[in-house]
Amino acid sequence: MGFNRKGFLLRSALVMGGIFLNGCVRKLSGRNEKYRHIKGHLKGPDEKAGHMLRDKIVIAEPSYSKKVKTLIIGAGISGLSAGRWLKKQGMADFEILELEDHAGGNAHSEGNTVSSYPWGAHYITIANNDDELLIDFLKENGVITHFENGLPFYNEFYLCFDPEERLLIKGQWQEGLIPKFGISQQDQEQIDKFFALCNQLKYAKGEDGKYAFNIPLDASSEDKRYRDLDQMSFKDYLVKAGYNSAYLLWYLNYCCKDDYGQQIKDVSAWAGLNYFAGHKGTAANAESGAVLTWPEGNGFLVNKLKSYLKPHIRTSVMATSVVSNKDHVEVDVFDMLKNQTYTILAEQVIIACPQFVNKRILKNTDRNLFDYDQLNYAPWMVANITLTDFPASGLQTLSWDNVPYGAPSVGYVYSGHQQVDHGKQAKVITFYLPLCDREPRVSRLAAYSRSYDQWLDMIIPELEYMHPEITPLIESVDVWVWGHGMISPSVNYIWGEDRKKARSSVAGQIFFAHTDLSGISLFEEGFHQGINAAKSLLEVNR
Ligand SMILES: Cc1cc2nc3c(=O)[nH]c(=O)nc-3n(C[C@H](O)[C@H](O)[C@H](O)COP(=O)(O)OP(=O)(O)OC[C@H]3O[C@@H](n4cnc5c(N)ncnc54)[C@H](O)[C@@H]3O)c2cc1C
Repeated sequence: MGFNRKGFLLRSALVMGGIFLNGCVRKLSGRNEKYRHIKGHLKGPDEKAGHMLRDKIVIAEPSYSKKVKTLIIGAGISGLSAGRWLKKQGMADFEILELEDHAGGNAHSEGNTVSSYPWGAHYITIANNDDELLIDFLKENGVITHFENGLPFYNEFYLCFDPEERLLIKGQWQEGLIPKFGISQQDQEQIDKFFALCNQLKYAKGEDGKYAFNIPLDASSEDKRYRDLDQMSFKDYLVKAGYNSAYLLWYLNYCCKDDYGQQIKDVSAWAGLNYFAGHKGTAANAESGAVLTWPEGNGFLVNKLKSYLKPHIRTSVMATSVVSNKDHVEVDVFDMLKNQTYTILAEQVIIACPQFVNKRILKNTDRNLFDYDQLNYAPWMVANITLTDFPASGLQTLSWDNVPYGAPSVGYVYSGHQQVDHGKQAKVITFYLPLCDREPRVSRLAAYSRSYDQWLDMIIPELEYMHPEITPLIESVDVWVWGHGMISPSVNYIWGEDRKKARSSVAGQIFFAHTDLSGISLFEEGFHQGINAAKSLLEVNR
């Protein structure tokens, strides 16, 4: 088979555009004969649970009740981090409820006989040196082994191995993702100019003496000069600043798709610039901006949190209703395995779920003052692809991150890259497709209605474009759809009123923690969201 670039882009456009024409697209392609040997499943977050909340299905009356001092709802990074903090402060009487049959949320991972692999979050950047809480966590878990001259020394097994990234551009794989192969002098000048600006912004400080851009983002300056950048789109900012190089704009668009699941036209300029200026960590044995990763992606960090919190985590249980009473919070919980409802009476609750869930489970709070509909969540499709072997043509420079220029996807990550024996033939690659060509709601609905075969029609042509003759080597493709993958830092969300309102606690009883309350969906943000909620809760108890 094999696709030339024009044919590949046309086909991608047809398949992406065919969201309302699924039938037509199917007739156009059918189950391609060449995909017949491929095994796999369509997966995703628990649909039954989602429907029960969304469609307000009547759930059986609670059959018993029990008391727990503190309850955390949601075992993603934010909820687990909140639990870790409570436990570190000596609190023992708390439970963490999770509707899925596993903790981890979007940082969930699995594995097969070939390798472990991520289903969502797959890396973090080395910590900013003033982020002491994150540095402590990384030290606790052997990610930082020791300090040299005051700088953290990162475990060499977790720093991304070389070669780290490659870009397929004009038919060639080049090292690194910033386009350089065959670009003009003017393009190079614009690229250099943009990165000089980012270097300056990285260390720029506002009038309050804080960094203009930082991670966690709440540690950044309140200076209006910088915060006002949240009120325009990144694209408008770039156009206004005279950037028009197609290669530079492609790269910045790719970065926003990769980290925010959205395009430069849909994210704020503050968020776009924070991507480049927020990370400023330095290390004894790594460059600033270096990546930490594991075969199972951030599942590694989830597993560390899980083992620390094991006695406290309850899975396959969903909070269906949260009512704030005078002296306790009443939470109805549906046990998905036993088909049974019970009530937990808690003194305090941390809700570590996305706000579209909170909208449905919170029953009597005045939080409705905040406009839930202002929050946009980017949908994603992630596919884990097991190959019996890797095509010889692409093997030599096979990198951790492998990206095709100009394609709908952001490429694939090779999960086994961090394994010392990664010379073995069979491999798993993780393919990431942000569904951002239309507004999130439309893309989400289309994604939910797509069949497994239709996903293959979107994935395999891109893989073939990158590696002609890969199809016969594909043993299985498992597909995961994240309908509400990650919060989008849309214009005026990060420093706007809605985020502020969404973060305020209710009556000293109910606290909130989720990356959507930061506006940027990163491990670091969830980690701090959890700690902040736990600290506020403990503060009330003093
Ligand atoms: C495709 C993809 C790639 C990503 N890549 C990266 C990356 O490389 N690096 C990075 O740092 N970040 C990445 N992220 C962002 C990632 O989302 C965050 O880093 C982080 O994992 C989010 O954690 P959270 O706890 O805030 O939210 P979530 O992961 O959304 O956790 C919320 C939890 O609450 C549970 N829940 C919801 N409702 C209920 C209920 N009623 N009762 C009980 N439980 C409930 C959910 O099942 C879930 O487990 C990626 C995200 C996606 C989708």
